[in-house]
Amino acid sequence: MDTKLVVYNTITRKKENFIPLNFPFVGLYVCGPTVYSDVHLGNCRTFISFDLIYRYLLHLDFKVRYVRNITDAGHLEGDRDEGDDKFAKKAKLEKLEPMEIVQKYTLGFHDVMRLFNALPPNIEPTATGHISEQIEMAKKIINNGFAYEVNGTIYFDVEKYSKEYNYTILTNRQLEDLLVNTRELGGQNEKKGRLDFALWIKAKPEHIMKWPSPWGIGFPGWHIECSAMSGKYLGDVFDIHGGGMDLAATHHTNEIAQSEACNHKQPAKYWMHTNMLTVNGTRMSKSAGNGFLPGELFTGNHPLLNRGFSPMAVRFFMLQAHYRSTLDFSNDALEASEKGFKRLINAYSLLNKLKSSNSSEVDISNLSERCYAAMNDDFNSPVLIAELFEAVHMVNSIYDGNTKATEQDLITLKKLMTEFIFDVLGLKEETSQTDDMAKLIDFVVDLRTEAKYNKDYATSDKIRNGLEQLGIQIKDTKEETTWNKA
Ligand SMILES: [Zn+2]
Repeated sequence: MDTKLVVYNTITRKKENFIPLNFPFVGLYVCGPTVYSDVHLGNCRTFISFDLIYRYLLHLDFKVRYVRNITDAGHLEGDRDEGDDKFAKKAKLEKLEPMEIVQKYTLGFHDVMRLFNALPPNIEPTATGHISEQIEMAKKIINNGFAYEVNGTIYFDVEKYSKEYNYTILTNRQLEDLLVNTRELGGQNEKKGRLDFALWIKAKPEHIMKWPSPWGIGFPGWHIECSAMSGKYLGDVFDIHGGGMDLAATHHTNEIAQSEACNHKQPAKYWMHTNMLTVNGTRMSKSAGNGFLPGELFTGNHPLLNRGFSPMAVRFFMLQAHYRSTLDFSNDALEASEKGFKRLINAYSLLNKLKSSNSSEVDISNLSERCYAAMNDDFNSPVLIAELFEAVHMVNSIYDGNTKATEQDLITLKKLMTEFIFDVLGLKEETSQTDDMAKLIDFVVDLRTEAKYNKDYATSDKIRNGLEQLGIQIKDTKEETTWNKA
């Protein structure tokens, strides 16, 4: 096993050697979607980034337990306990039961993840399935003196907590600045401190999703579900906690506070955050009208898109940026990625057609080392992809007879490309349509060979020229005719 993996830890703001708490086991928790609407592309980027991380940890033979939750209750419109319940509001709009909303968008989310070839997590717990765990945690926090009840609602006491712990450890912001910048919310004067947040919220009579608790009928605050569920499945302290960077300032900050107030321990050793998406240089958002959905991206059915792009072209595009960098969507960038992805897959399909030599002019072990070095450097997928294009260059050069490689080198090269393209980057060849097309081209090439055999050169030339116009190059050798799609 390669143990040189280095990860960027948001909490220390530096790259650190990755040393799991309980080798070879790794506990990975990622904040999942709130399933009250279609998953947006920014979320997809987060989950694809953690899919890459999960896949590479598996590739390194770590025994990973990957937990990604489904938020199906308790998430109010504002991150600080204000506004309507997102599920109830949507249910009213669509005239459905809240759990119908949950089911509809959970299935939709799973479909999108499957299209992106993201591996499912080992456990996908739901907030509604863990109400008693959240109540128990809130009780412990009250008993430890870090939360208080006002009229059936439980608030976390940030000021009290801050006397013993660092509330802004994750973002390194000043508590005083936070206080100044936090709005005083209407109707929430019952809170002692402006930064206090709800662990449990008293339900109004019209509220649909509600449960009994020691403090009356209510529902959990948003933040406590992740603390309760990560603790249940990964333990009080686990290895990696991840999510989008927009979660760091409030949701993750509060998760850390809850876990420390409950267990007196920081919950995760490494905090990892993915960066946001932009479109033509502007932040992607629904209100800006540039927040297209995965489905719109696949079909091209959006005013900002010239045409559709396949899920693998999009996945490849996302992996061409490091997960901590912003990623800008544009038609040009997507088209370039699509071409790059095709080049990579075409070179891979040539691997079985390569002819070995007695000597070698390639250094596969050096290439392999560089691929590992890229991924060991905080999962640097763009550098890995650049190294894989070196492999593409190598394959094409061997195929054209310009470079020699031994049989053993060819076997090692194929193993390397298989592992990094499919297992680690999680790409897959698209699809049966491509296979059908290959069979069709084989058939046409056979017709041309037949025409040549019959000395019908007019027909054979016509076929060759026709294929060339479609970007398919035919190559005749003494033994056989092969073809390659540019
Ligand atoms: Zn969370």
